[in-house]
This record gives sequence, C-alpha cells and structure tokens, in this order.
Amino acid sequence: MKVLIIGGVAGGASTLARLRRLDEKAEIVMVERGKYISFANCGLPYHIGGVIKNRENLLVETEQGLEQKFNVDIRVETEAVKIDREKRTVILKNLNTGVEYEESYDKLVLSPGSVPFIPDLPGINSRRVHSLRNMSDMDGIIEYINTHKVKKALVVGGGFIGVETAENLFERGIDVAIVERAPQILGQFDWDFAQMAHEQLADHGIKIYMETSVVGFEEVPNGVKVVLDDDSNLEAQLVILSIGVIPESKLAIDADLEIGHKGAIVVNENLLTSDPDIYAVGDAIQVTCKIRNKPVLVPLAWGANRQGRLCADNICGMDKKFSPQLGTSILKVFDYTGASTGLNAWNLDKAGIKYNTVVATRNNHAGYYPGALPMMLKLHYAEDGTILGAQGFGIDGVDKRIDVLATAIKGNLKAWDLQDIEVAYAPPFNSAKDPVNILGYMAENRKLGMEESITWKELAEIKDKVQILDIRTSAERSLGHIDNDIHIELNDIRSRINELDKDKEYIVYCAMGHRGYIAFRILKQYGLNVRNLIGGYKLYKYAFSSFEPKEVAAKKNKEYIEKTIDISKRIELDACGLQCPGPIMKTKEAMETLDNGQLLEVKASDPGFKKDVYHWADSTGNQVIETSFENGIVTAILQKGTGRTKNIGLTVEKNGQTIVVFSGDLDKVLASMIIANGALAMGKDVTLFFTFWGLNALRRKGTRVKKPLLEKMFGAMMPEGVDELKISKMNMGGMGTALMKSIMQEKNVDSLDTHLASFLKNGGKIIACTMSMDVLGITKDELIDGIEYAGVASYLGEAEKASSNLFI
Ligand code: FAD
Repeated sequence: MKVLIIGGVAGGASTLARLRRLDEKAEIVMVERGKYISFANCGLPYHIGGVIKNRENLLVETEQGLEQKFNVDIRVETEAVKIDREKRTVILKNLNTGVEYEESYDKLVLSPGSVPFIPDLPGINSRRVHSLRNMSDMDGIIEYINTHKVKKALVVGGGFIGVETAENLFERGIDVAIVERAPQILGQFDWDFAQMAHEQLADHGIKIYMETSVVGFEEVPNGVKVVLDDDSNLEAQLVILSIGVIPESKLAIDADLEIGHKGAIVVNENLLTSDPDIYAVGDAIQVTCKIRNKPVLVPLAWGANRQGRLCADNICGMDKKFSPQLGTSILKVFDYTGASTGLNAWNLDKAGIKYNTVVATRNNHAGYYPGALPMMLKLHYAEDGTILGAQGFGIDGVDKRIDVLATAIKGNLKAWDLQDIEVAYAPPFNSAKDPVNILGYMAENRKLGMEESITWKELAEIKDKVQILDIRTSAERSLGHIDNDIHIELNDIRSRINELDKDKEYIVYCAMGHRGYIAFRILKQYGLNVRNLIGGYKLYKYAFSSFEPKEVAAKKNKEYIEKTIDISKRIELDACGLQCPGPIMKTKEAMETLDNGQLLEVKASDPGFKKDVYHWADSTGNQVIETSFENGIVTAILQKGTGRTKNIGLTVEKNGQTIVVFSGDLDKVLASMIIANGALAMGKDVTLFFTFWGLNALRRKGTRVKKPLLEKMFGAMMPEGVDELKISKMNMGGMGTALMKSIMQEKNVDSLDTHLASFLKNGGKIIACTMSMDVLGITKDELIDGIEYAGVASYLGEAEKASSNLFI
C-alpha cells in the first residue's frame, strides 16, 4: 500500500508516525510546501517574545530524523498542485527547481491546515503588514523587528493568536495595541470572563480598540497608517494581522471533493472525504459540534493530532470514529490562564438553547498552604443537567479544572454529577472540595430549589424593580458597591430582618456569591422574596467596568519613593490564601499596630488586592508606596499615614462636587441648585445629599400616604415641595417670598423646580437621606422621581471623590 500525505505538520506528521507503527511495509510519502515539517506552530508567538529562546526547539522533528526513525520518504519545499482522482495521482512541484512531476497513491491523506484570513483592503500588501502561521512568518517578523527597531506595533484581531502575539510583542518591549471588530476579545469567553483578559492587557499598557475595524493601510515614513472604520487612524511600525484562519481547501475544491462549512472539507466519522481513497484531517476539515450537533471548524492542535492517529488506523483497516468536538482551548494572558470548553452564553443564545449558569470562585489549592491563588469557573448547563459549556480564568489550576469539565461533558455527566468526582487532594494541590465539585454542589442546590439566582445581565434589566442588598462587610463595601443598594452585613441580617419588606424582591450580593447564598438561605426562611447575584460583586464589577491601559505613573511613583524612603525597613505581612476582604482586613489590623511613617509589606494572592489596596489606603489616610505582581502574588508596600495623604506621583482625579442640602429655605436651596448646575456644566460629577429640612424641597405636592397620626401632623406642618418653601429672611408672612419669586421671573432667573428638573436631566445625582426621612416621617412615595435613597456612607463615598464639599 502506498500512502501519500499532503502537509507535514500536526495532522500529517501524526498520520505518518501512526501509519508506520501499524504497517512496517507501507510505502509512505509526505510532502510539505514549507521548509520544515512537524514544527510547533503553537510556540511561534513565544519565540517572538523571547520566552522560547532557542529557535531550534520549535522544530519538534527534522525531515532527516523522521525519515530515519520511520523509514519514510519526506519531501519538503514540495507543493501538491493537483489531484487526479481517476488516476489516483497527485502533481507535485519542487519549489526549488520548479519541476512538476506525478506521484501515485493508493490512499491519499490531506492535512493542508488553514491559512490566515487576509482581507482585500487597500495597502494590505505593505511590507509592514505581517501574519503568523509558520516558521518563515515568524522569522520574517523577528527580522523586521530587529532591522527596523520596532517600538510600536498593532495587532489586528483579538483571538487567541492575536492576544498571544500582543503579549509577546510587549515582552520584547514593544508598545502594542489591539484592534478588534467585536465588542470583546477572545470570543470563546462570555463577556464577563473576557473582561478579565481585557483587564490583564490594560494592566500591561495594551490598549484594545473594541468594535473597531481596519479598513486600509497607508505607508508613512518609518511606519504605516492604519485606517479605521470611524475614519480615525493609528500609526505603527509593524502590523500583525490575526483575524482568523480559513481552511486550506483549494486542492480539495479543485478535485471536486465535497466542501462544507466555511469552505472546509467534508469528512465522515472515519475522516474519509467524499472519495473512498482520500482522507482529510486537521484545520482543513469540518467537524461536528458536540453540543449543537452541527458542522463547525475547530482549528486547534488537539483535533489535528487525534485525527491523524485515527486516520492511520482507518487506512490500516480499523473502524475508528472521530467524536464530535467541544473546542476545548486554553491560553496564557500574562500571569493568567483562560480556558474554555463547550459553548459560551453567546453561542447558546444564538442556538436558542436554554441554560442555567453557576459561577464558583475558589483557590487552586488549600488557602492555608502558601501560594494559594483564586480562580473563577463558570458552568452553563441545561435544565436536565446536561453540561453545555464551561470557562475558567485565574492564575493557576484553571487548566486542570477545564480538562476535568471537558472530560465530564465527554462522559455525558450531568452538572450535579460534578459533586461526585473524587479528586486527588493534599494541601499543595487542591482543597478537599475541588472547585469543580463546588460547581456540582451549586447545580444541585439550584435543582433542589435551595438557591435562586440572577445574573448581572438579568439584574441590569430589572434593577429599578428590585431592592439590591449588599451583605458584605463595611471594609469590602468601602471598595465599591452597586448603585442604589442597601447594606446589611451578613452577620446582622437576622437581627435586622424587620427592616426588610416582604412585598419587595431582594437581590443579595456578596463578593463572590458564596456568602450571598448563605444570606439567601436566611432570608428565604424568613419568608422574603430573594435571589442571589451569580458571581457576586466581583463578576458584576467585571461586567460593568472598562479597563484603560495603565499609565507608567506607578513607575514614577516608585522612582520617587526610592529616592526618598528606605523601603528596606518594613514589617512583613503574609495575607496569601485569603479571599477579599481578607487581605484588606489583615492589612487594617497590621497597620493599627504601626507607628506613623512605618512601612508594611503585604503579600496577597487575591489579585484584586492590587487595586483594592489603593482604594483602602486612599480612604484611610495611608499611602501605597508601590505594588507589584509576580508569580501570582501581589506585593504592596504601604506607609502608615498621619491623616489624609495622596499617592505620590499618582494623580487621583477628584472631579466630584458634593453638597449637603440641610436647609429647607427657598433661597438656600436655590443657591445650592445654582452651584450644583454650574458644577455640572463644568463637567463635574455632582451629588446633592438632601437631609432634614432640605428633604421638603423634594416633596411632591398633594401626595396622600397612609401614616401614623403623629407623622401625618408633622408632615402637614412642613412645606410640600419647592412651591411652598419660604425665603430665610424677610418672609413677612409670605409677601417677601412672593416678591422674590416675581423678581426672579422678571429677571429671567429659573425657578427652583426648573433648576431641579434640569439638574436631574443633566445627570446630577440626588440622594435623599433615609435616616432623616425616617425621623421626619417622610416616605419615598412623597418624594419626586429620579432620586436615590441612601445613608451617610453613600454620601461620604461620593464626598471622597469630590474636590469640594458644601454644607448648606
Ligand atoms: P498545519 O499544522 O498548519 O500543517 C499544514 C501544513 O500543510 C502546512 O505546513 C502547509 O505548508 C502544508 N501544506 C498546505 N497545502 C499544501 C500543499 N498543497 N502541498 C504541500 N504542503 C501543503 N492550536 C492549539 O490547539 N493550541 C495553541 O496554542 C495553538 N497555537 C497556535 C499558534 C499559532 C501562531 C498558530 C499559527 C496556530 C496555533 N494553533 C494552536 C493551531 C494549530 O497549530 C493547528 O490547529 C494545527 O497545526 C493544525 O494542524 P494541520 O495539520 O491541520 O495544519
């Protein structure tokens, strides 16, 4: 039997090796258009970045090595140009000599892979525009970087190759940005998980131009102008195009083989094409999606390798079938790992498949063992428990969990069966309850009706109809919270249960979802209508944040500090293994034992600590000297402050204006509104905190509300809204106020209600003090629309962000 293999890398070389092991006598010829066979495409970006230092390490097998080991005939720089199915021959072209000749086969294997998609755009052929598929592409890019001393590059396309390339260009010290047509990069992830990658890139100064397409390239001196679809442009010295791959199926098309999804070669379960003597494997073929049972492309190395082996088995007379695929994939984004298997929410929605979601945030191993690092896992599953997809993001251990989940899907386990996976456990490796087990517990709770939950997306749609309840500690809350929520710490819930209203729906949230579940259980058993926010505040924050590339301000800060403070004298605190707010609480406790000016070095494995520590220090009058992140550990050096301090070198932008409106006098409220509208006009974020008598300005006239007699009488004695407010001086039984109003009208000064309306319309924020409302017996129904209700903490939170704060 003579087998001819076209394409000598992942699929082709796997077929060759297995064939020889099965059949010592077969005549095997493999042709490869490029210079190299069996090279590690997946390692190419990492050699560009200098992570894989030795180029030769990418050449997994050489032509001579493979020929000797397997007694085969390998011809590199040889292109298959035409298949004659009748004659069972292929025309091969020696690319060095240009000579064409005919080669016969009994069985033909096509493994030609895929090619980068190159759109037909003006200027696309510029020598500054590259793509990355093989060794020569990589060599070309490296040479270009070196000869042109590239300092600025642009990657077009935020798929996994684009992101890996951007990271590696960064590693070479190149200033890099990504342009991405979709609203997110890494389309295999849900938006909230992709946000974790957005954050990582931003943290390394990589800007992503989202929802932006490139429409052309123009040469400029020492670079290329990249024209974008909004008519703006970016300049770079080097552009890497990475906007997807297309199956290399021209040979198959010309040979009239059946072609399917997106131009890929159609094969049956045995990897046989529409010709009984021609097999095809790898990126060039279409496979079946296990979840949707429809043709898809999965241009990844696992499939090519697996198919190569099965193809050889089938050529040698076995009946081996290639199973439907999940598209399991993984990538490194700086210190993080992102991995996924099965479908994400977007694809499930598109396919009209209904699903439940659980999210678990857990450490990679026991928290008390040094170096524990958190990860977030998400599972989508159908009502009957069928697992539809999973994704994970974290620093360590995500790979193992996604692989377990892919195995579970392959084994048709139900979501709740994940509880039963008996994992290997010792503190350095895992917790006795693996994060995958936790997903199973969550699915089981959901199935038994022990937990009802809501996603951030669903919450956004009904936010105005529910009461959001933060059950985290005050320390955690000081780091941020959801707008218009109320706050009762988990430990106080039972004692403050009477403050909650059985007629309302409550959405509880904690940091990650676990304590939210505990709160849910308590509230439910007290008869309240409640749901728990999936993934807690952490995921919510990811969903609604935008990440701008970090400035080098942190570096400046460090330089300044190095000149002025001896950081070698510091107290050390190990907060590794603790989840938020653990590291903050520990920091607070440790700081309390220090003298002013002393330094504290905190090490934490919670990556959120890197940001949290700045907020915390800022709001407690301490100072962050520097932060760093290495091997999954955040190190922060803080200096105990004497009062309010600012981060040296880091400008904390305070663009807010807050006013406490205490007075209920017409002239004073009017003065407040004039200042407030003026500040709004200057682009400030303005918050008015109406408390005590000021609340009367917000009352609606003639609202009938049932209340106890005393409160009713009190209410009747107070002005109902702006029309009934009086001036503070010379009121003269109302004559002064009337005179003032008519002068205002004459002089074209807007009335108070016009000021209020335009303030709200222009984005100003009004907070009615709930404590004063309670004291004065004023209910929400009596107050105007469009305002928020909160306590002093919310006001103080706003005041923190304000450059000036007035009390009127
Ligand atoms: P290839 O490995 O591409 O081999 C096809 C070969 O066929 C090519 O060398 C081509 O020159 C040759 N050929 C084509 N037509 C002809 C012809 N007419 N005559 C002769 N020869 C021909 N996958 C992962 O799973 N994980 C990763 O981390 C990962 N990283 C990647 C990073 C990069 C930069 C790239 C480019 C790919 C990466 N992949 C990754 C994808 C993975 O490399 C491919 O899925 C896999 O190589 C496909 O194998 P294949 O045999 O189908 O095609």
